[in-house]
Amino acid sequence: MDEAYLFAHYHGVLFAGGTVTTIGASGGWLLNGGHGVLSGSLGLGADRVLQFGLVTPDGREIIANQCQNARLFWALRGGGGGAFGVILNATHLVQAEMPTTSAIFSFPASGDNERTYMALPAENMRDWALAGWGGPSTTNMTALANPYINTSQAEIMMAPAIHFVQSQNGTALIQRFRSYFDYYVTIMNGSLVASEATSVASFLTSRLIPETAFQNETTKGLMVDNIMNIKASGLVPWVLNTTPLLYGRAQPQQTALHPAWYKSVWISTAQGGWRPGASLHERKLFSGLLRQATQSWMTIATEGCSYANEADPWMEDWADQFWGENYAKLLEVKNEVDPDGLLGCWHCIGWDAS
Ligand SMILES: Cc1cc2nc3c(=O)[nH]c(=O)nc-3n(C[C@H](O)[C@H](O)[C@H](O)COP(=O)(O)OP(=O)(O)OC[C@H]3O[C@@H](n4cnc5c(N)ncnc54)[C@H](O)[C@@H]3O)c2cc1C
Repeated sequence: MDEAYLFAHYHGVLFAGGTVTTIGASGGWLLNGGHGVLSGSLGLGADRVLQFGLVTPDGREIIANQCQNARLFWALRGGGGGAFGVILNATHLVQAEMPTTSAIFSFPASGDNERTYMALPAENMRDWALAGWGGPSTTNMTALANPYINTSQAEIMMAPAIHFVQSQNGTALIQRFRSYFDYYVTIMNGSLVASEATSVASFLTSRLIPETAFQNETTKGLMVDNIMNIKASGLVPWVLNTTPLLYGRAQPQQTALHPAWYKSVWISTAQGGWRPGASLHERKLFSGLLRQATQSWMTIATEGCSYANEADPWMEDWADQFWGENYAKLLEVKNEVDPDGLLGCWHCIGWDAS
């Protein structure tokens, strides 16, 4: 991903990629949707891809775009990696670089102040997303970026969060960067990067939370409770404000993703894992926790969906949760291009436990 960001910047254009450096730009990230800080207004990777070059299971090297192999092109835009062919290359839409304003908040956590803090994005994130803000948040930290407003406008819009964070002896920083690339290098791929030990088994679960949940007082309260319950259970809750909500207002859906993607505000996630050498009992305990988190978000956001790239690996009803009404057509395309089932992977299109 880093190389794509750098290459685009070198040519004075913006590549709207994912949040971190280590994932591939034209592999699994793109094939299952691919969100990033700017997805809210610019669309997901799958919205912005113009063409794939691939080898199909029968050994042909072909191109898929809106004119050639259009059904396959649709399926590759969100239908997932490892199912339809081996991608050799992809052509991504880019655009002129734009100055970007950031809002970075953090404060020392005390439990109570985290709950109060999470009520702020539950209350405001739909409006913030519709004004162009995107990025990750957790219970005592948020990093948002917006290419459409200046720092004075940002200070007004973010006033409730700035005041709260300052009242908790935290830091609220509104900054202007010359380009999104500068923001990405300094913040997303700079100060926010955390290393993780090798051989730790990491998992997460995700739920896209529809905007209707942000328009209902009861659901807003339940969302905050759920985030705090997840934290109390030992998992790490993150909400990713990276859904194509604003983009979906202007563009009809052209991808194979679950339609809830274009009507959602948050990707709510819970992360955790087990250390090397964990016993079977410890692993089962952890998988139970993760499933509990999955279930709790599903109960609150029944109209939402789950992101296949960041999903509970033990999710039941995975085809419907990942692709909804699009799964049937995706399976048709899979059977057309791969009638012998040469390609298969866990919870991918056509995966069959039997
Ligand atoms: C640290 C970290 C940060 C992340 N941040 C984000 C983020 O900001 N936004 C986001 O949307 N997701 C994010 N993810 C999730 C990420 O999208 C998935 O992990 C995704 O599967 C990565 O794809 P990959 O090609 O890099 O990985 P791989 O594990 O190599 O591939 C994933 C799947 O895609 C298939 N695949 C890969 N390449 C090809 C190809 N050329 N042709 C056909 N199939 C292929 C593989 O067979 C496999 O099934 C993150 C993950 C991690 C670990």
